[in-house]
Amino acid sequence: MKAWILHDIGKISYEEREMPKPGKGEVLLKVHSAGICGSDIPRIYQTGAHNMPLIPGHEFSGEVVEAGQDADRTWLGKRVGVFPLIPCRDCFPCRQLKYEMCRHYDYLGSRSDGGFAEYVAVPEWNLIELPEGVSYDSAAMLEPMSVGIHAIRGVAPERGEKITVCGLGTIGTLLVMSLINIFEIDANDITAIGNKESQKNNVEGLGVPAGNFLDIRQLDTDKKETAISKFIAERTNGIGTNVFFECTGSNESYSWGVDILAPSGRLCLMGNPHSDMELKRDVYWKILRNQLKLMGTWNSSFTGSEADDWHMALNAMAKNGKELENFISHRYPLEKLDEGFEIMRDKKEEYIKIMGQI
Ligand SMILES: [Zn+2]
Ligand SMILES: [Zn+2]
Repeated sequence: MKAWILHDIGKISYEEREMPKPGKGEVLLKVHSAGICGSDIPRIYQTGAHNMPLIPGHEFSGEVVEAGQDADRTWLGKRVGVFPLIPCRDCFPCRQLKYEMCRHYDYLGSRSDGGFAEYVAVPEWNLIELPEGVSYDSAAMLEPMSVGIHAIRGVAPERGEKITVCGLGTIGTLLVMSLINIFEIDANDITAIGNKESQKNNVEGLGVPAGNFLDIRQLDTDKKETAISKFIAERTNGIGTNVFFECTGSNESYSWGVDILAPSGRLCLMGNPHSDMELKRDVYWKILRNQLKLMGTWNSSFTGSEADDWHMALNAMAKNGKELENFISHRYPLEKLDEGFEIMRDKKEEYIKIMGQI
């Protein structure tokens, strides 16, 4: 089969590889769609993966074409999405079914071979069957969508609360979509902070008023902080925002979040940090005086129950799948996926989700 193989930092090539053999409890998947995640770019070009050589790609979907020993043969021929984290199912968080916090996990596409290939072996435990009407492309976005849903459920915004989303990459944009479509938050109560014209169009398309989008590129560097608090104050009757989703991992966005939260506000930290995250003393004071809650969120819940984040995402897709596909800005056949890696690395054109179709 053909696959993208990461040999070392910055050394990725499209090669012929032996077909993977599904092991005990595993199935062989013929990959149909595989999205490039923001985290794949530093993995390929800056940090490398935990194990190399490695086939990256953890956001993928496909068809089950072979069942390994003891794997349920009724999976054969089924269209599936894949939860990429393989938990130990024995550690403390695993015993509470909080697999996303597993202490000894394996991960398809970062520790074990993933989906930038024609075929991949996957434990049957990690499969989720796709209902009719959910395309392979949509299903390849189950992971980023579930990450947003997990964050939203963690802070549990209530209808009528003011919500700010800072950072409108794939996760931030899908999070806005889920707030509106799944959690029935009024789009007028959402403000969004981004840095691209296309992001404004995306959130506007979801119903967020154009005036609720702030493009930070248009602000003077030294006056950013005051401009953002003024922008939020004007849209929250001077009270501040009740919930702030930090989806960039930048220190300044973290600081803005603490700064503009309303009393008893909640800050949800989602972005992988680019640097040490520090607060000035007058901003830090606000955590105390406003009795703020700062919370982290990580990955998503996948327990096999209808109540987990993945089923919630899948059910929403079954109802509203086409809207999701609008966020695919580029599609490439597997052999040209490097063009997608390079667009995301060099940021030479605007993109939302770049999808490989295999
Ligand atoms: Zn991802
Ligand atoms: Zn575990």
